[in-house]
Amino acid sequence: MRTLREHGALSRAQLAVRSGLSKATVSSLVTDLELRGLVHSAGVSAGGQGRPGQLVDLRPTSVCGIGLDVHVGHVGAAVTDLSGELLFRRRVLCDVPGIGPERAIDQLAELANTALAEVEGLVGPPVGLTVSVPGLVDRDAGTVTFAPRLRWRDVAVADGLAARTRLPLDHIAVDNDANLGAEAELATMSGNVTDLAYLTGDFGIGCGVIAGGRLIRGSIGFAGEIGHMAMDPLGPYCSCGRRGCWETQVGLGALLHACADPDDPVRDPTLDLDKRMGIVRARAEQRDRRTLDALHQIGTALGLGVAVLVNLLNPAVVVLGGYFAALPEWLVEPIRNEVVANVLAPGAGGARVVGSTLGFTAATTGGALAALHRVLDDPTVVPTSQPDDEEAPA
Ligand SMILES: [Zn+2]
Repeated sequence: MRTLREHGALSRAQLAVRSGLSKATVSSLVTDLELRGLVHSAGVSAGGQGRPGQLVDLRPTSVCGIGLDVHVGHVGAAVTDLSGELLFRRRVLCDVPGIGPERAIDQLAELANTALAEVEGLVGPPVGLTVSVPGLVDRDAGTVTFAPRLRWRDVAVADGLAARTRLPLDHIAVDNDANLGAEAELATMSGNVTDLAYLTGDFGIGCGVIAGGRLIRGSIGFAGEIGHMAMDPLGPYCSCGRRGCWETQVGLGALLHACADPDDPVRDPTLDLDKRMGIVRARAEQRDRRTLDALHQIGTALGLGVAVLVNLLNPAVVVLGGYFAALPEWLVEPIRNEVVANVLAPGAGGARVVGSTLGFTAATTGGALAALHRVLDDPTVVPTSQPDDEEAPA
């Protein structure tokens, strides 16, 4: 299934070559996947060497994956089909730290139930749901260990969602937002990118690291908490209780504080973040002095931290996610200047700094894609049924 996902429709012979399996094994696997409705015949291969073969392809609408995400100011959902095509996306404003974890899980469950109702009839059943959380996550237990910006400690998110939706507990996973975002960004990259660092630009800052094509999770899954790198021991207090963490300098709170007074609409939490970023962009385009100074200040502080990442990891790409993605024209240059000045490797080791194309949606998309891993890892989670009549030739 992964081979088909990567290459598109292939004959059984081509599948055997690409997978390294025997033709007999491929034939029996294809028959099994057909019975589960996960692949179907897709015409006859044209020309090439050997006999023309019947092509096999994924059936994108056979199953779907759901991604949910929790931010300080909103909750979101996305649904994709088996090919990764987006079928549903929604974001609901919500004061997550204010309402507490139980009510936030109510909101997430309501969004998941709405998403399932909206895609019913368009796509098959969900094979999984992954919740993205800005904080430390115990993936085995399906709990959030600590998410300082949400003020969550030891919250049983998977259990809570299983109790509030029709999804069984083994379909529900919880993961870190930066890790999910990094995987979603990697999926959008052209060329063979194997080393990437993805920064979540939100009130908190996290980093998803892909090195040698693999996500780096650390020994117990807590890698990537670069937002709490101490940049200024006498700096302002952070949500984690320490002082001068990087996210106090470059988080969304720092930008909003630097570019606007408290009564300014860009600091209004009841306005959607995309709208607020749109206002900041418009002001920067009109060369508003305060906005440009704020962006330069954030970009320089960002660059100092990105240089640490580049010295440590030598990534091919550093992707600026979240709010950074709305403002790359003003952030990339000061970042580049600091990276060039502070990285030992000539030419910053070839690291490119780019704005994300997914913005605030990377983690939900990544969650939906991660949910599909459940069926890609083990297609037998989808039960067999009789061959689908509509797939048979007339
Ligand atoms: Zn901190």
